Amino acid sequence: MSGPVRTEDVDPVAVAGRADGSTFELTDSHEARVGDVLVRRALPRRDRRTVGAWCFADHMGPLTVSGTGGVNIGPHPHMGLQTVTWLVAGEVLHRDSLGSEQLIRPGQLNLMTAGNGVSHAEESTGRYTGELHGIQLWVAQPEATRHGDPAFEHHAELPRVEIDSAVATVLVGELAGVVSPARRDTDHLGAELSLRAGRTVVPLRRDHEHALVVLDGSVAVSEGTITPGHLAYLGLGRDELVLDANDPVRVLLLGGVPFESRVLMWWNFVARAREEVDAAVADWQAGAPRFGDPESPLERIPSPVPPWRER
Ligand code: MN
Repeated sequence: MSGPVRTEDVDPVAVAGRADGSTFELTDSHEARVGDVLVRRALPRRDRRTVGAWCFADHMGPLTVSGTGGVNIGPHPHMGLQTVTWLVAGEVLHRDSLGSEQLIRPGQLNLMTAGNGVSHAEESTGRYTGELHGIQLWVAQPEATRHGDPAFEHHAELPRVEIDSAVATVLVGELAGVVSPARRDTDHLGAELSLRAGRTVVPLRRDHEHALVVLDGSVAVSEGTITPGHLAYLGLGRDELVLDANDPVRVLLLGGVPFESRVLMWWNFVARAREEVDAAVADWQAGAPRFGDPESPLERIPSPVPPWRER
């Protein structure tokens, strides 16, 4: 998906959670429009730029779509990040400048690595009618890979593990001894927990900071109750997380070692300095080979002007 990160999100403010496991911040997501679809953006926030390397989370739906309705985001560029697309319901067609054309369905993972530059389109399939529900996340790439080549992976199946009253699907990283095959450039974790009614105790790593985004239902932790439309930031220093559910819940667990540096996020780019963003904007606007040209019936999305370039 495309991330029109708001002007007020531009200034990075790094705030590390306390290391003793006592951090709990529950904040509202804000609504954003992506293509024709309203999303609830849980990350970034002004005071919480990253959770591990996770730097962006757009929760889309559930909404009802028919035919060509739903996600219709024309070709747009990315730099310095990985897009992680995860559906609960529906289907989306991914096409990128590497020549990938991949339908994604619930339970599958699309992982695109931008490195120095890639572009893609995210389209409705034109034949799907029904519920569309999912989340797109971005992972900031570290210095070691962010200037590298782009890549795309599709994982039709991901490892699952039973933890108490939950089935955890490991999208990226490792949870409860189960490791995802997905590429990982930093030490981070992404897992979907599908909870039945009851208590689930999820093992965590103390050196990871964590956050929860509820996709469906309502789940209680010791500090409060979490529902869709929020980011629950849990900080560092927790050995485990106790989750209580009265009804089925679907929740995304994000974690990771605090990111190595501050990031500058603007539009669809993750950078460190404005000059890098300016160069990416100029290259996209010029149609430079750096970002390629995905085959898509949708219109290419022009870059807006960065706020620091407005006069
Ligand atoms: Mn995108």
